[in-house]
Amino acid sequence: MGGAYTCARLVSEASAAGMRLDVVGVHDSILCASGRLLCGGEEIRSRDFVINRYKWGHLRDVTGACGCRQYNPAGAFTRYVDKYNQLVDLRSEAFDVPRYVLATSSPPFDAVVEAVGLPFVAKGLASSMGREIRLISSRVDYDALAHEFGADKEWIFEEYIACSRGRDMRLMAVRGEAVACMQRRSSDDFRANVALGAEVTAVAVNSELRTIASDVCRVTGLDVVGIDLLFGNPGPVLCEINVMPGLEGIESATGVNVAGRIISMIREDFLS
Ligand code: ADP
Repeated sequence: MGGAYTCARLVSEASAAGMRLDVVGVHDSILCASGRLLCGGEEIRSRDFVINRYKWGHLRDVTGACGCRQYNPAGAFTRYVDKYNQLVDLRSEAFDVPRYVLATSSPPFDAVVEAVGLPFVAKGLASSMGREIRLISSRVDYDALAHEFGADKEWIFEEYIACSRGRDMRLMAVRGEAVACMQRRSSDDFRANVALGAEVTAVAVNSELRTIASDVCRVTGLDVVGIDLLFGNPGPVLCEINVMPGLEGIESATGVNVAGRIISMIREDFLS
């Protein structure tokens, strides 16, 4: 439903700006052997732009390619869906990057602990809504990863930022500008995902957050990005970035018209 809110808001803001935006659902689409893309029985052809709201797959690629412009750009979108690529590339003078290693859950537990400390966080590379995020406090927790997910799955094993337990920040950046920020807080889980019951409150955008928004957009080439930060000591620590951030939480927590900012950015691209 988060996706439904975001699509509805973008359509509504586009309409207010005199632009027609259609929602093309991958679940309603058929890509024919001839290369024709049908959605709800209608053929989807070339459009001025496409706003991509789906993570992967050929249907996403073909739908995106219908746009003369894509938001976010296809190459950056695909690269930064992956949490490992985020850790490799993202740097800013205003946040720290946690210590991490990439591995399956087969290497010796002690080797991982030596690299990132204990407890540590195990992250599936394509996790969302906290689904493949685990706090590993013991060898038993570590062994459970292979049982739950199989021994071949790749993980990021990452330093646990204990002072951020149950809390993080979501900063929304549009073309390098910090447009809104909220805190998410969970009372009973180390993960601050709204999908897992965390509550949201507004955070004032300061110069540190403005630097982060500008650095992340410059490094990645993303037009619209949700930047998740942990509360580290002394300052923010990178958690992850989201290339297709939902707007419901951030708009309701802050009252900022983020959908309107995205549509204005697109409109200016076509006017310039
Ligand atoms: P997902 O994309 O599945 O939501 P995240 O990487 O955003 O995965 O992690 C989910 C939540 O887990 C974060 O919002 C944060 O609250 C918590 N978390 C993630 N990494 C760490 C870490 N290194 N230290 C402390 N908490 C973390």
